[in-house]
Amino acid sequence: MARFLLLAILALAACAERSPPAPWPEPPLLHSAPLAAPAPPAAPARWPAPGVLLQPPRLVTTSGYAARRVYLDPGHRDADGRDGGTGAYCQLEADFALELAQDLGRRLEQTGAFIVRLAREPGEIVAYAERVARAEAWGADAYLGLHSDVRGPGRPWSPRPGKECSYDESSPGFSIIWSDVAPAGLRARRQILARAVARALGAAGFLPCACREYVREYRADEDALGLFVDRRPSPRRIQVLERNGVPAILVETHNARDPHEAQRWQEEHTREVFAAVIAAALREALAGPSAETR
Ligand SMILES: [Zn+2]
Repeated sequence: MARFLLLAILALAACAERSPPAPWPEPPLLHSAPLAAPAPPAAPARWPAPGVLLQPPRLVTTSGYAARRVYLDPGHRDADGRDGGTGAYCQLEADFALELAQDLGRRLEQTGAFIVRLAREPGEIVAYAERVARAEAWGADAYLGLHSDVRGPGRPWSPRPGKECSYDESSPGFSIIWSDVAPAGLRARRQILARAVARALGAAGFLPCACREYVREYRADEDALGLFVDRRPSPRRIQVLERNGVPAILVETHNARDPHEAQRWQEEHTREVFAAVIAAALREALAGPSAETR
């Protein structure tokens, strides 16, 4: 009987892993006020606090606008087959990035203003150099690397039976990373794209990351909050940013170790506003001639 029960539990666990994302358990209560202290004035809650809504940008018309080619690169599962970071609910970055790229790509194409290709499909392992080569050969107008970050020292917890990961609330928010190592024309187009996306995310209410832990590797770019320039020495720079003829940025959507942010990125509302933000920023940044006619 015990064996039967164990098998049933294992079968249920296996089903649960295959089914669409179910609501995750509540994040741990991390801030408890001292009992006798007077309550400080309540700061207005901001995203990713539960229930706080994002503000999508105004819709822009697509009439008279030649569709732009957008190359979405779901980070990781490259030639090394690595999965990237592990989040507060033990979710793998490579899985999140692919699922987000599929969702974002579908929504961008629905606007009629974009043609989208993905750098990798489910089950595929594609080297980063190959992704860049394909984007350049296709004549992409923009290259977006989609990632989730893992920041903060982390504390162990068990989000569900049999799983142990780390959570951390000390460094939430998005970051946009770009490389200024390029000839002037390309550098300008990278900068315009990076700035447009960072500003649009902030304007919609997504939290810009202060990312103090970036200090050795990236320089904060004063053009927008949450915007950073790759400052690592040459061999360690992010290759898809530096060695890319297509204007490219990395979008670190959130800190996957932060349970509140990870929860909110499961919501339809978040995905919908994120896609609207990216569409608006791409329209702004790619307002000139397309790569095909340049
Ligand atoms: Zn990553």
